[in-house]
Amino acid sequence: MYDLFIVGAGPVGCYFTQKISEFKYKLIEEHSEIGKPVQCAGLVGEKIFRYVKKEYLNKIDGAYIHYRKDYFPLRRKNVAYVLDREKFDKDLATDLEISFKERFIDARIKKDRIEIRTNRGLYYSKYLVGCDGACSMVRKYVTEKKIKYLKSIQYTVEFKHEENMVSFFLKPFSWIIPENRKICRIGVISNDPLRDLHVPEGRIISRTGGLIPVGFLKTFRDNIFLIGDAASQTKPLTGGGLYYGIKAADIAGDLFLEDKIYKYDSEWKKLFGNQIKIGMMARKIYERMNETDMEKFYNFIKKNRKKIEESCDFDKHSSLFKILLSSPETWPLILKISPLFY
Ligand SMILES: Cc1cc2nc3c(=O)[nH]c(=O)nc-3n(C[C@H](O)[C@H](O)[C@H](O)COP(=O)(O)OP(=O)(O)OC[C@H]3O[C@@H](n4cnc5c(N)ncnc54)[C@H](O)[C@@H]3O)c2cc1C
Repeated sequence: MYDLFIVGAGPVGCYFTQKISEFKYKLIEEHSEIGKPVQCAGLVGEKIFRYVKKEYLNKIDGAYIHYRKDYFPLRRKNVAYVLDREKFDKDLATDLEISFKERFIDARIKKDRIEIRTNRGLYYSKYLVGCDGACSMVRKYVTEKKIKYLKSIQYTVEFKHEENMVSFFLKPFSWIIPENRKICRIGVISNDPLRDLHVPEGRIISRTGGLIPVGFLKTFRDNIFLIGDAASQTKPLTGGGLYYGIKAADIAGDLFLEDKIYKYDSEWKKLFGNQIKIGMMARKIYERMNETDMEKFYNFIKKNRKKIEESCDFDKHSSLFKILLSSPETWPLILKISPLFY
């Protein structure tokens, strides 16, 4: 009988397991190696380094915002960092006991324990923890809510771009993230990412992609809880999930050590649930924007770029929403497309 049975040795599962490693745990991973395949652009803000070692491939001092043929820079020193995602995951897994090539199949909730079946056998545990990513199989034991997924594709390409700036294209949301002066990660989130990804001339080093869950979910039920992408703890506008996932794993780890894990769902929601709710609203508005709306939005951020450079927070998208709401010139646009008025 285990204290905790953890499904998924991604960054979130590994971070959480490090925190509770004094308990009797089993951590399973369906792949044969940590950190592979990489399905990530690896762009994070400074705050994640409150939890993990500050190691990165490249430092970012701002973004070029593009719309149609026009673009302008938003500059802030050290606003983001580009990770070597494979190494990031491997560092988090250091010294953990992980059962590789073991896949969670299903679970049964008994009176005083949970029965868990994998491709290797049957186990019993007091708690079951779903850190099994976007297409979590543990999720259905906690919530029946239907998940919204964003689709994404990314190529790593030999392509020259200013080394310490990223480029963001507004619709469909796409990015150029330099690893260094010669290699960039170029990706897109859209309904048809294969069609919408524009890869420039240059040797293609690798291709990846995947689903990004967005939404606000219940994350604890009957001694089963979800963390990271399994819990949909991602930024609904851009799909970034590393910071919220690690932060939630930290909260869950602390509560487990204090024997208060039953508070997990309400605690993480108290700390950053509103960011996800506001992000969902912003995503609905974004999806309803037509070309004219998008042009107005682009011109607004271009005109207000000083304010945005000073006060926007990479990990708190509500900061941008606040600037929009505080400017009467954006009200007609927001009123026209806000989900609140449908
Ligand atoms: C193209 C793309 C670009 C992205 N770019 C960024 C970015 O720039 N910045 C950012 O912050 N986030 C980004 N994200 C999101 C980020 O990658 C995720 O939020 C992050 O990986 C979530 O970590 P996790 O540990 O919760 O899940 P995962 O990293 O998905 O790990 C889950 C683990 O569980 C294992 N697993 C799944 N099912 C089972 C099972 N049944 N049995 C056993 N094991 C199982 C998987 O093999 C995997 O190892 C991006 C995502 C995509 C798709």
